[in-house]
Amino acid sequence: MLSTSALELLPPLSKNDFVDLLKIYSASSMEIEPLIQTQSRPFRAPHHSISSNALIGGGSLGRVGPGEISLAHKGLLFLDEFPEFRRDAIEGLREPLQSGRVHLTRVGGNCILPADFTLIAAMNPCPCGMYTPLNNRCRCTPDRKAQYQRKLSSPILDRISVMVQMNVTSSVIENEYVEQSAQKIKESILICSEIQGKRFRSVSALPESAADMSHPDFSLDEKGSEIVKIWQSKFKASFRRVNQTIRVSRTIADLNGHKKIGSNDLVEAWGLRCFDFYQPF
Ligand SMILES: [Zn+2]
Repeated sequence: MLSTSALELLPPLSKNDFVDLLKIYSASSMEIEPLIQTQSRPFRAPHHSISSNALIGGGSLGRVGPGEISLAHKGLLFLDEFPEFRRDAIEGLREPLQSGRVHLTRVGGNCILPADFTLIAAMNPCPCGMYTPLNNRCRCTPDRKAQYQRKLSSPILDRISVMVQMNVTSSVIENEYVEQSAQKIKESILICSEIQGKRFRSVSALPESAADMSHPDFSLDEKGSEIVKIWQSKFKASFRRVNQTIRVSRTIADLNGHKKIGSNDLVEAWGLRCFDFYQPF
């Protein structure tokens, strides 16, 4: 439910992105009529039994077709029960998550397809889904839990910028309140995306997710650099992980109207990775 709501919060599709999407859908067996009518960003939610070719793209005999990641270009790709997807399908997300496109090589042909999507993935804390730090009723064996967790490799986890734990809630939120806050969030996302659009267009023609981090807006002050040093020495954070966190902190700074990345923005971005702290295994 939250992932479909997230689509509503995204800024409208630009003309160029819409034309790119039309090209992708025309090259697939998908109907393009619904896309033309709504002109909305795509939302794709394939089942975890999907093959790697259908998710990443592929084909045979020289006919290379777009996969779900390209059909979700400039939109949302929702993967429920993330660790249940095939290992090769999960690992195939590495390149597009990094660069916003995918190289497909098959017998008789190869091509590069756009795949600049936002990934939303959901998973249970353990195979039986009953583990919680406060009220643990998990029935899984330690081996089974470890096997479940191992399905997500460090390079894939490093490419996921934000991880949050969803708790069971009994409170009922008033509809009016939800609508008001959704409108506010939508406005702040639109402002933030305009700021980032200007910044990235000025430095690189690459998708925003792969934009050059040498831009001065990513520079850290002395305190920020100290914090990053602690991540690297104490938590053994990889280079990619540090970069991801700085990117998130830049977005948080934009949402807060900060010109420079502050140490509070950095710390908030680091805290948005509950998987690192929430290790039941
Ligand atoms: Zn369990």
